[in-house]
Amino acid sequence: MSIHTADVVVIGAGINGASCAFHLAERGLSVAVLEREAGAALGSTGRSAAGVRVQFTTAANIRLSLYSLPVFRSFEERYGHDVGYRSIGYLLLVPEARWADHMASVALQKELGAPVEVLDAAEARRRVDFDAEGLAGATFGPWDGVIDPHLACLAWVEMAKESGARFHFGTRVAGIARDPDGWHVRAGGEEWSCGHVVNAAGAWSGEVGALAGLDVPVGPKRIQIFLSAPHDDPRTYPLTIDLASGVYLRSEGDRVLFGLDNLEQAFGFTEGVDPEWLEHVLVTGVARFPWWEEMGVDLRGSWWGYYGVSPDNSPIIGSHPDADRWIDVCGFSGHGIMHAPAAGVAVAGLIADGATSTVDISHFRHTRFGDDVAVEANVF
Ligand SMILES: Cc1cc2nc3c(=O)[nH]c(=O)nc-3n(C[C@H](O)[C@H](O)[C@H](O)COP(=O)(O)OP(=O)(O)OC[C@H]3O[C@@H](n4cnc5c(N)ncnc54)[C@H](O)[C@@H]3O)c2cc1C
Repeated sequence: MSIHTADVVVIGAGINGASCAFHLAERGLSVAVLEREAGAALGSTGRSAAGVRVQFTTAANIRLSLYSLPVFRSFEERYGHDVGYRSIGYLLLVPEARWADHMASVALQKELGAPVEVLDAAEARRRVDFDAEGLAGATFGPWDGVIDPHLACLAWVEMAKESGARFHFGTRVAGIARDPDGWHVRAGGEEWSCGHVVNAAGAWSGEVGALAGLDVPVGPKRIQIFLSAPHDDPRTYPLTIDLASGVYLRSEGDRVLFGLDNLEQAFGFTEGVDPEWLEHVLVTGVARFPWWEEMGVDLRGSWWGYYGVSPDNSPIIGSHPDADRWIDVCGFSGHGIMHAPAAGVAVAGLIADGATSTVDISHFRHTRFGDDVAVEANVF
């Protein structure tokens, strides 16, 4: 059996693995991407709500968005690929108790250069109908919206291939050992010798780290998204989140996509759509969105997937403290689509230059857990 060689082995061909592969190959490094599924975007990337936004509470996450959203907004001009960006906006409905903190985060977003509008209930209701009980107001991000994660992931795969990266599908990584110059990776009955490993295995990143004897504190959490029956409001609803209850919705064609993260959901690879949770989401949501009373649900159009979750719901991007040629790019929770451009360029800088000057990823270091660092509050 011959042993393949590469400067970098990227594990996982979701949106983050594809972005890393492109940015690394563009820097002239030889890249092999190992993906156990038959194609790209078949993990969490293919199951998201596709939202992109700048409305975060920590400077670190706002900066990732300020790098990433302009990339999505101009992707076609820059690279000739349509990634389906639509500026439908995120509309956050803010309860009185969170207003002061929320306004502080809006001030931070504006200071860093993110466009955000503060609306009263009447202005917000022009975009979607809701009951304003207990709300102090709303904010709207005009750059925020959606992309098509399949298109973006497949665009990076194609662009990475054009720059020389090789993708090996149906190739599950089963063993990883250190060697004097980097790593030895066993996958799909073949072997790769490489200088760096990039762990972009999403919710499976903890498992992949364990193959190399490394503790990568990222685990899976099931998230469900429900779809309404056809809905006849001509308006396109922004991605609207009731910060009081966590219930969210947005238009998806002539349907409404909606959900609520289950904070009690145990970690693990739990599968399927849970009708009891749907019932809870509907009962919770109807108080804010009374028109849900009449909204039919298309259970067969609803779906589920996994968040890869770190201890503070923000990603880990950078070298592992016990192995500096091992780069983790995982633990994005519900933000791994929107931050993939920044993650890819940062990882390429780390490996090609030993540091990244394009985006500040120092906050996302492995060793932050337990430190006194700002924790992101806008996690959904
Ligand atoms: C319901 C839902 C809604 C979401 N909504 C949003 C949203 O609105 N906006 C947003 O930004 N994010 C959202 N997310 C999160 C987003 O989908 C993820 O953060 C993102 O897709 C992670 O991409 P990734 O490339 O890191 O991981 P993935 O897409 O999961 O890719 C990891 C890949 O690694 C592969 N792999 C795993 N183990 C191995 C192995 N041993 N060998 C080889 N390959 C392996 C997997 O097969 C997979 O293809 C949502 C997620 C869910 C589930």
